[in-house]
Amino acid sequence: MASKSGKTRIVLLGATGSIGTSCLDIVRACPELFEIVAVTAHSSWQHLAKICEEFRPQTAVLTGVTEKELPGNAFPNKTQLAFGTDALKITSANSEADIVISAIVGSAGLHGTWAAVEAGKTVGLANKETLVAAGPLVMSLAKATGSQIIPVDSEHSAIFQALECGHCSELAKVILTASGGPFRTWPKEQLQHVSIEDALTHPNWNMGPKITIDSATMMNKALEVIEARWLFDLREDQISVVVHPQSIVHSMVEFVDGSVMAQLSPPDMKLPIQYALTWPERKPGISPKLDFQSAITLNFEPPDLERFPALGLGFEVASRGGTCGSVLNAANEIAVEQFLKSKLSFTDIPRLCRSILDAHHYESEPTLETVVRLDTWARQEARSWNPLSSHHSAPSLTLRTC
Ligand code: NDP
Ligand code: MG
Repeated sequence: MASKSGKTRIVLLGATGSIGTSCLDIVRACPELFEIVAVTAHSSWQHLAKICEEFRPQTAVLTGVTEKELPGNAFPNKTQLAFGTDALKITSANSEADIVISAIVGSAGLHGTWAAVEAGKTVGLANKETLVAAGPLVMSLAKATGSQIIPVDSEHSAIFQALECGHCSELAKVILTASGGPFRTWPKEQLQHVSIEDALTHPNWNMGPKITIDSATMMNKALEVIEARWLFDLREDQISVVVHPQSIVHSMVEFVDGSVMAQLSPPDMKLPIQYALTWPERKPGISPKLDFQSAITLNFEPPDLERFPALGLGFEVASRGGTCGSVLNAANEIAVEQFLKSKLSFTDIPRLCRSILDAHHYESEPTLETVVRLDTWARQEARSWNPLSSHHSAPSLTLRTC
């Protein structure tokens, strides 16, 4: 996948975020292997300017600020600065790039991911919300253009790696591991009183705020069930979730003979990012290694759907498909935003999602236009949702039967 210079040329969407920063750490450590050709951010222009000073990409794109808001000499001369979503799409389809790392948070990541897939690029996909919202459309586009999508999400990277031990026809099921988040052992009653600070403190992973809250509600695992469904073309009953508090086994694949293949490494995103960058090869890198000279304990326990009803929504939406993914994802993005503004309680997050899902007009094979329209609709509904007037609590059966 490398250029004539021997270096893999990277377009990094979401360069200022947690995944973006880990990706840049890898490039900094291995300049003989990798080169950054373009970077994007939303509004953190000062951070993006620093990145451009160091990595000297050809292009930098900002989607959340305009040229007028920036001082004239903020970016190095050699970097061409562009603004807005159309510029982001053009950059994602950059003919010079060997790989596009899609690391924007939320369904805002769909624009760049879609443009890269449409251009037939190899895509290292961290932005799971793209597959949650539009999985079947993205995967069929990738098939048509020959775009290779390599998962960066650690669980899906683990499955992608474990699948190399057998043929797809020999796969029985995948087992996604979940850390269980900071409230794994909390009783149900206490979850109503979760503070923002508690929810932003993940026991194992250091990530952006949205995915950290998703991990605390276990909505992250719900989104990952849906992501796995489309990425690996699985049935919903071929996906299971097990809580593994140490986050060392990143996921497993069970083959038809009962053999289970797991991928293990310390909880650090640099390994799955680097694997996406070097695939199908492996290279030495800066990811931390497991030390089997010290005692390592691995525990596994079933998830508790009663305390974490968001996970049930993930299985339901993976089973129904259609417009459900787009609606669940958008409702959750707003619920997380409202929770972080102290406008919703922690346990209201899955309640809001349940309620908006139930209220939406379901279509089984939506177009991209419908997916985007329902994303906008679900955001509006979620913003005006009143926790006192809606009393849906547990996942209902109505959706399954429609
Ligand atoms: P962060 O919040 O740390 O970073 C988000 C990035 O996206 C920033 O560069 C941000 O720019 C940019 N961005 C935010 N909103 C927009 C927008 N509307 N349009 C364009 N760009 C935008 O997120 P993470 O790095 O934690 O997560 C990125 C993705 O990777 C998510 O989909 C997440 O689920 C997934 N992921 C993350 C993991 C992790 O360990 N962090 C693990 C597995 C998956 P700015 O700084 O200007 O706001
Ligand atoms: Mg993950």
